[in-house]
Amino acid sequence: MEWQPGTSGRTGIEPAASTRRWVSHARHDVPAPHRGAGRPSSGGPKGRAEGRFAVASEPRSRLVTLDGSSGEGGGQILRTALTLSLLTGRPFRLVKVRANRDRPALRPQHLKAVEAAALLGNAEVVGASAGSRDLTFRPGAIEPRDLRIDIGTAGSTALVLQTLHLPLALRSEGPTRLTLTGGTFNESAPSFPFLETTWRAHLAALGMPIALTMPEAGYFPEGGGRLDAWIEPGTPRPLVLEARGELVKVRGVAEVTNLDRNIALRMGRQAESSLAARGLDAEILTNRTAGTGRGVSITLVAEFAEGPPATFVGVGKRGKPAELVADDAVADLLDHLDNPGAVDLHSADQILLPLALAEGRSVYTVTRITEHLRTNVETIGAFLDRPIRVEASDEGPGGRVIVG
Ligand code: ATP
Repeated sequence: MEWQPGTSGRTGIEPAASTRRWVSHARHDVPAPHRGAGRPSSGGPKGRAEGRFAVASEPRSRLVTLDGSSGEGGGQILRTALTLSLLTGRPFRLVKVRANRDRPALRPQHLKAVEAAALLGNAEVVGASAGSRDLTFRPGAIEPRDLRIDIGTAGSTALVLQTLHLPLALRSEGPTRLTLTGGTFNESAPSFPFLETTWRAHLAALGMPIALTMPEAGYFPEGGGRLDAWIEPGTPRPLVLEARGELVKVRGVAEVTNLDRNIALRMGRQAESSLAARGLDAEILTNRTAGTGRGVSITLVAEFAEGPPATFVGVGKRGKPAELVADDAVADLLDHLDNPGAVDLHSADQILLPLALAEGRSVYTVTRITEHLRTNVETIGAFLDRPIRVEASDEGPGGRVIVG
């Protein structure tokens, strides 16, 4: 299917009224990211757009060809490509989309990310349909604007937000608002409490403020959750984060949506007693969270004397006992605490993209080097002339990431 700019009406993506921010043409002669121009002090909207941030060293017209079966072989390759295509102006073709997944090809969440990116970037897209395994995306001028995006399933709202976040933050002059409907608690994607606590803290450290709310929770299979994001304009600064501060406390919340609160109490008790067995005194609150569907989750947050908090979310599913949901979150938290590294395994791949765009060298340590991290290094390298090195530790699963 071919997707042209201006066809948003039937896609569940609506530009909010009177929200067009300004037009930003990707530069034709953009220098390498470490020579990025930052925010200029004067000039009209178009002038500001051209000078605001420069990210690519390759000619704008050169097609990037990506293999969706390489590395992790999931949706992240597509999302990183969409973000960087919008920012560099370079078109890309992705073949074998999500080839390593049980249900490969474009699924609704990925399709919404493509459609929304196409709308923001006035892109021409070939292959934008559910089930497509071959996608070509040719961006035009970016028009930052507020958007309402209904994924239509329980697909992750967080992942669509993360796709659009950098183009909106880097290319818009004022705050932009995204209203997303879909899943807000997902097993293999950032759930809302992770975004709100850990991702937001990382972004604040990079100088990219964002405000987030979740008026309604959305779980598999019903979805219907809502995530609202207000994205401030910002240019990422580099990060040096090598040592993790002392653990200050572990806190948590066990939540139910349209299910018996007793389930939340059981998850909370289970997590408290498992953590106590490891000498960790954690207080877990319980909460009823609004939403149209049903679901349960438990969020554990480790706070450190220095550096960002680490957040782990256990998400329930039909037939899975509450205690096992809590056990999963506890196991993830303990894995983090047992391994040195200032950045958790999930944030490790998520902060790489803004850091690749930041002016200056970044170094951070991670508790685990994942295939997601390595795959993101590869995808970023296809668009940007930026050296990124991942050094594995001799002792344990973690290591160091060096950008620039
Ligand atoms: P698929 O691979 O099926 O296409 P996907 O579109 O969800 O799924 P992935 O390529 O698996 O994409 O990327 C998932 C992203 O979600 C990664 O950035 C990863 O760090 C993040 N993520 C996964 N689980 C968690 C979690 N529990 N907390 C925070 N982030 C997570």
